[in-house]
Amino acid sequence: MKDREAREAARQEARHNSVAATRRCHECNEEALGHCPDCHKGFCQDHFPKQQHSPCAEKQMRQAQTQVCYVCGRQVYPDQWSMSRTSHYIDEFRCNGCGRHVCDEMHTRRKTENISIIREGLRGHRYQSTIRYCDLCSPFYRIGGIKGIMRWAVGVGTVVAGLLFYLHP
Ligand SMILES: [Zn+2]
Ligand SMILES: [Zn+2]
Ligand SMILES: [Zn+2]
Ligand SMILES: [Zn+2]
Repeated sequence: MKDREAREAARQEARHNSVAATRRCHECNEEALGHCPDCHKGFCQDHFPKQQHSPCAEKQMRQAQTQVCYVCGRQVYPDQWSMSRTSHYIDEFRCNGCGRHVCDEMHTRRKTENISIIREGLRGHRYQSTIRYCDLCSPFYRIGGIKGIMRWAVGVGTVVAGLLFYLHP
């Protein structure tokens, strides 16, 4: 009996050692699975949500008051979680066009999923992000919302200014 326990412990130890230090969860000793999109550190399934690791947890706490839908003021709860060892979900509750927070129920006009597969060692990690667009940005989502329009307007303005300069030296 003692033998088996010792063997088991040795096996556990070997398993842990086979995981390079850099691939360990930043909060505990488990193997890191997902990478937090904000702090870029690796975390295990339990510590991947922002509330579960620092410095993101502190940041979330500080920002709680400002994380409200810009239209109705309802508080939003940006979240991320791991469904399995290789699939991670991220929902920022933020309009992809103007960057402001929007609530899910009333002011997310367009909602799509963006899936990216990131290879890490032998495994492919699947990150699924929720892309939202508010009422204002939704009609222009193809060019990146109202920020996209601004960029576009600046680009056109530059071209027009260039043309005027060219025509009237
Ligand atoms: Zn952990
Ligand atoms: Zn983080
Ligand atoms: Zn709202
Ligand atoms: Zn927007």
